[in-house]
Amino acid sequence: MDGAITKSELLNLLKKYGLSPNKKLGQNFLVDENVVRKIILFSQTEGKEVIEIGAGPGTLTVYLAKTAQKVVAVEIDKKILNVLKDVCQNLSNLQIVNSDFLELNVKNLTNGNKVYVVGNLPYYVTSQILFKLFEERECIEKFTIMVQKEVAQRLLAKPGTKEYGNLTVAMNFYCEIEDYFYVSKNVFYPKPEVDSAVLRARFKIEKPNVDEKKFFKIVHACFSTRRKTILNALSNQLDIAKDELKKIIHMAGLDENLRAEDLSLDDYVRLYQCFEEEFF
Ligand code: SAM
Repeated sequence: MDGAITKSELLNLLKKYGLSPNKKLGQNFLVDENVVRKIILFSQTEGKEVIEIGAGPGTLTVYLAKTAQKVVAVEIDKKILNVLKDVCQNLSNLQIVNSDFLELNVKNLTNGNKVYVVGNLPYYVTSQILFKLFEERECIEKFTIMVQKEVAQRLLAKPGTKEYGNLTVAMNFYCEIEDYFYVSKNVFYPKPEVDSAVLRARFKIEKPNVDEKKFFKIVHACFSTRRKTILNALSNQLDIAKDELKKIIHMAGLDENLRAEDLSLDDYVRLYQCFEEEFF
């Protein structure tokens, strides 16, 4: 295949293999050459080792393989692999892996180098894939993902906004978002309900020096009841007296009447450090 798969080519391929897009697997396929080219360029994958999440019919895969050093295309759906193999014939630097990305040991797919990850993500499992990327950060340098616009807004959110949440704090903790752009829902087949965004992030070399399990326990406790103050949310979730909690919050230089969405990553790190001094 030379250019990107057009909608009519995709329909022909699906017909050839007796398939229709599987909604449950989030199969909204890209059918716009300009957007495909833009994503590939944006992903900075030229000459890199790349893992693609959810290769589907190979729309991005073909382009990635043309410029990357090596591409490992992961796809959960056995049926769509027939199309993928058809579209990606004769690409010697491509390895296809039929697996759930969430179950994979990413390190086993690399040559020991840090890889670039690219994926037009299946929307039903976006957060799990993000947390999986965070888990596998030792083997990943950068990732470029297409997500629903609303998820991108959560990832990019500033403290004090309603989009700011657990996911934002985790993203800021592990990564720096380098750049992003929005994509219309009209460039997919079938057309999804909402627009999307493509976002590129790199893993931080130096992240906050905390026990991550304990740190995120505090963050989750604060966000457990968004409408409550951090004092009440923490008191609901942790087995610690309110007076003690108030003391810790003040030690961190925070007001007990703040709400979870008001705290920046630095505020959470300070709050964690005060918990650590007193309790951990
Ligand atoms: N890359 C293609 C494109 O851009 O048109 C397809 C993207 S489509 C939005 C998401 C793809 O991810 C589908 O092909 C779907 O079968 C696959 N997928 C869904 N869940 C997955 C999982 N857990 N692991 C790997 N692939 C998955």
